[in-house]
Amino acid sequence: MAEAAGRTLGDEEVAAAERVIRSGMLNSVWGTEARALEREIAERYGVRHAVACSSGTAALHLAVVAAAPDPGDEIITTPITDFGTVAPILAQNAVPVFADVDPSDGNLDPDAVAKLIGPRTRAIMAVHLFGAPARVAELRALADRHGLALIEDCAQAWLAELPEGGLAGTVGDVACLSLQQWKHITCGDGGLALTDDDERARRMRLFSDKGWDRAAGRSYVAFGLNYRMTELQAAVARAQLAKLPGVLAARRRTALRLLQALEGLPGVRLPRPQGHAWWLFPLVLPGGGAPELAGRLREAGIPARAGYLEQPLNRAPVWDAPVYGTSHYPLEGYTPHSCPEAERMVAETLLIIDWNENYTPEHVELVARELAKFRPRP
Ligand SMILES: *Cc1c(COP(=O)(O)O)cnc(C)c1O
Repeated sequence: MAEAAGRTLGDEEVAAAERVIRSGMLNSVWGTEARALEREIAERYGVRHAVACSSGTAALHLAVVAAAPDPGDEIITTPITDFGTVAPILAQNAVPVFADVDPSDGNLDPDAVAKLIGPRTRAIMAVHLFGAPARVAELRALADRHGLALIEDCAQAWLAELPEGGLAGTVGDVACLSLQQWKHITCGDGGLALTDDDERARRMRLFSDKGWDRAAGRSYVAFGLNYRMTELQAAVARAQLAKLPGVLAARRRTALRLLQALEGLPGVRLPRPQGHAWWLFPLVLPGGGAPELAGRLREAGIPARAGYLEQPLNRAPVWDAPVYGTSHYPLEGYTPHSCPEAERMVAETLLIIDWNENYTPEHVELVARELAKFRPRP
């Protein structure tokens, strides 16, 4: 399936990059592209503010900054995600608390989150995993009940839709998007943090620009880093944004085709298609056997993997290492909670197939044919 390499970069992106280079202005403080990208994305999502930045991880860092945890405060998140979800928690000296997932799709289980809320909890970070909408309406209610911020990590879920209606990313206080190479659309690296809240937007913008209040001259008013998106990134991202509806429609069309072909396959739990953005095509084998099946699919040329991660993040080796220098602060004596559902998914039951907008009906048939050979353990 090599011909399905799946990127949509072409003449439009070349023209965008050339436009920026010929303008002589590559920096978004003085350029127009990043601000235009922010307006276009804010409009697409129907939110007041979009803050462009250098990566999805940077966008998540801005979201954590806006949630303003004190050092040692806790942020509840999922153990099945990219480390870009978790690194910003540590960067703000907060403590990640891993809640278990719903074994049907690997998204955060709101009941598991509720049990972990304590006096130091400051925020909940949900991830719309693989493009499937997480249960953010329930998490919103939980966050409101306890006065917590809700952050939505939409890096894998561009334009995913919620069962209640509306886009994934419009329920949290801040939502984050990624433009990394393998996301739905890309400029190599890049990110956006979306919010309706003026004060959160102000704090995120300041942090992404070294705490520099540009309206006040060369005046630094808060701690910040340089997370600015360049004009080259933004111009390419704008060209990509125009292609996003087509990318999503193509992914949905072939994913639905595969779902239909797999209907009734014994021992396989199919993903729910409602609102799914199909960053990947995930399957759950409730009786186990995902590593063996992934191996057989790969032999047939299908880009399949078991588990998504080597281990869920609550079991990652990083928790044994110091955080800063030789210091383990704020994680002295820290042992992440066990998350039995996530651990079983990663070790045994979760199978993912890389998905992209260039798959053809023939690709889908190949995947369906090979999957149909699966026999659950007796
Ligand atoms: C890709 C990704 C990130 C990090 O985004 P980068 O742009 O690579 O920094 C964070 N969370 C999830 C769920 C992702 O898939």
